[in-house]
Amino acid sequence: MNHQPFETWLLDDKHLTPAEKRDLNAHLRTCKTCSSLAETGLALRSARAVSPAPGFALRFQQRLAAQKVAERRRRLWGLIVLAVSAAALIGLFVAPYVVAFVSAPVEWLTAALGYFLVVFTSLQAFGEVVSVFARMLPKFLPPYAWMVILSGLAGVGLLWIVSIWRFARRPQGVMV
Ligand SMILES: [Zn+2]
Repeated sequence: MNHQPFETWLLDDKHLTPAEKRDLNAHLRTCKTCSSLAETGLALRSARAVSPAPGFALRFQQRLAAQKVAERRRRLWGLIVLAVSAAALIGLFVAPYVVAFVSAPVEWLTAALGYFLVVFTSLQAFGEVVSVFARMLPKFLPPYAWMVILSGLAGVGLLWIVSIWRFARRPQGVMV
């Protein structure tokens, strides 16, 4: 069966003259292929014709904007909660010192100063001792003594590692 020009008319969605329409209808009555094609075209056209409910785009945009605002607000609240809890945590740790400082500022300051002085002077003394040893030892010790010391240190370190290893292994042996 010859489906032309009816197939082209149906596919192109052509505007038909009354005579052409009559010919097409006659063909569609006898041709299953073209009638199903015409039905598909009708279905597609009606689907295309269905437009969204009036105001749909506006409502969609409004809902989107509201969602954005809500999300921004949620994020802001999360930030506030985070900041407040962080401040509370810091306050919990700092409060004793603040209380001590406020109740007796002079004593606290002298104690803190004394503490820092002790740390500073002991660090200084330690540094001096180290520098003195570093200056003195190479003069007194021949190179082989350094080798002995270093190998002794390495041996102690190895022993230490082995003892830790055995100590860590023992509980397993007991349990088995
Ligand atoms: Zn046909």
